[in-house]
Amino acid sequence: MSDSNPGNRPLVEGPRDPEHDAGASYALEPSYVSALTDRLAASSGETHEVCSPIDGAPLAHVPQSSEEDVVEAFARARRAQERWARTPYAHRQRLLLRLHDLVLDRQDEIMDLIVLESGKARKHAFDEPLHIALTARYYGRTLSDHLSTERKPGVFPALTRIDINHVPKGVVGVISPWNYPFTMALCDGLAAIAAGNAVVSKPDAQTMLSALLAARLLDEAGFPSDLWQVVAGPGPEVGRSLIEKADYICFTGSTATGKLVAQGCAERLIGCSLELGGKNPMLILADADIERAAEGAVRAVYSNGGQLCVSIERMYVADAIYDRFVDRFVSRVQALSLGAGLSWDIDMGPLISQAQVDTTEAHVADAVAKGARVLTGGRARPDLAPYFFEPTILEGVTPEMTCFGNETFGPVVSLYRFHDEADAISRANEGEYGLNASIYSQDGPRARAVARQVKAGTVNINEAFGATFASLAAPMGGMRSSGTGRRQGREGILRYTETQSVATQRLARIAPMFGMSDEAYAKMMTRTLRGLKKLGRA
Ligand code: NAD
Repeated sequence: MSDSNPGNRPLVEGPRDPEHDAGASYALEPSYVSALTDRLAASSGETHEVCSPIDGAPLAHVPQSSEEDVVEAFARARRAQERWARTPYAHRQRLLLRLHDLVLDRQDEIMDLIVLESGKARKHAFDEPLHIALTARYYGRTLSDHLSTERKPGVFPALTRIDINHVPKGVVGVISPWNYPFTMALCDGLAAIAAGNAVVSKPDAQTMLSALLAARLLDEAGFPSDLWQVVAGPGPEVGRSLIEKADYICFTGSTATGKLVAQGCAERLIGCSLELGGKNPMLILADADIERAAEGAVRAVYSNGGQLCVSIERMYVADAIYDRFVDRFVSRVQALSLGAGLSWDIDMGPLISQAQVDTTEAHVADAVAKGARVLTGGRARPDLAPYFFEPTILEGVTPEMTCFGNETFGPVVSLYRFHDEADAISRANEGEYGLNASIYSQDGPRARAVARQVKAGTVNINEAFGATFASLAAPMGGMRSSGTGRRQGREGILRYTETQSVATQRLARIAPMFGMSDEAYAKMMTRTLRGLKKLGRA
């Protein structure tokens, strides 16, 4: 394990629960935990125990927010936002670029905390500081391009001037899940504050510490601390409270909860972006590079144990290469190093909770009972960590099996053979979701033509999901039941603004002048419209 920044490593080494201890074990410095939880708006007197999926032992007791805390968090955020909205873009850009450096400098600390709190392998934890650095750099470089007032042609050339302003919404409520606890708590809110808003963040209860570290890093980068409030508590209560108070909601989580969030926002007529679930397909065309596809398939399915909204759960493989691909894929999966801990050597870590193991186990058991074959994996492995489930490949999955169309959100993939590409595309488009898809082919134009026919908000060619997710200029989000709105790119920041059109009318009025009758005015306008069309005006 590298130690580039030992001063910030929050670890106390040594066994802390010999009963569960499967090797080196770590706890967090109590002073480090309290420095994080001090960042919370939480005075209810109640606490929530956060346990590590590495060994199931407690990591911290996180104070919980009362309704009064949420009210106070919004009041502080609103005051901070009024000042923040007046800051020059150049100042915001400087802070974002400072955050970029800070996150890269402190990556060991960030990854330690993510691994301890979520259980994921360190190599998958690295994706989180990486994604925040990319997000901070992208908006740090492009914010003023997106937000600056735009001049547009008005109804009469030279006489009507149009300015389009992008005005911040106010206070944005960000409700985030546990699976990528650092980046999901921070990346969407970062675009919100870049646009001049304040944020009240409600992370998932299982991963509060990673979200609180994100808030601390914002403070250290120089953002006003009241601009980013963090509250803690159960989603149906504290999440609901955010929906009742915010000017806009950014929600990332399950489709079922997303629908409730959308209903709450509709009642108040506020906007929301919803980043929801998926049942993402991979198409491996007959001309694919088999070795490359097998390598990509492993990352596509087992990154963070499949607990990733854009991970692949269905693979459609061309008949001509099916057997060779399956052979390479299975042997790569069987060679994965499974374990729990902070080391870079682990290829797949445990799932976050017993609930995740139960769902995964139930999907596999249902498929097997109805005739599916397990090519590898298929079992829980409590010997490795309390919530471990083996990387699993299924064949022979049919529509009556639960895992055919329902998101497992675990390390399980179903393989299907196809003869005809058009048929494969239509099977990939089955179901309610449309988040991400992956296509393997050595023919770029052909793969891009297939991509246009796939109903998914992001499509990665010769890559699983990382190419779109790490390309911050590329909007990311779901079609159909996978959500509405987009993070990243221009859409990712403009969703947090109201578009305001300001017209300045010079000389002529938009009405009859100089005693002209309404009829003469209508004739004059008709001639003008015909003339403007001839001139090619939009
Ligand atoms: P979830 O919907 O149960 O919880 C997500 C968040 O919503 C948590 O903070 C939770 O406390 C809160 N919440 C729960 N009930 C709420 C309510 N009634 N009102 C307001 N907030 C409430 O999601 P989960 O099961 O923890 O997360 C996994 C799901 O998230 C998967 O379906 C996954 O695909 C999806 N996800 C999507 C993306 C994306 O970008 N599209 C990213 C990560 C995860």
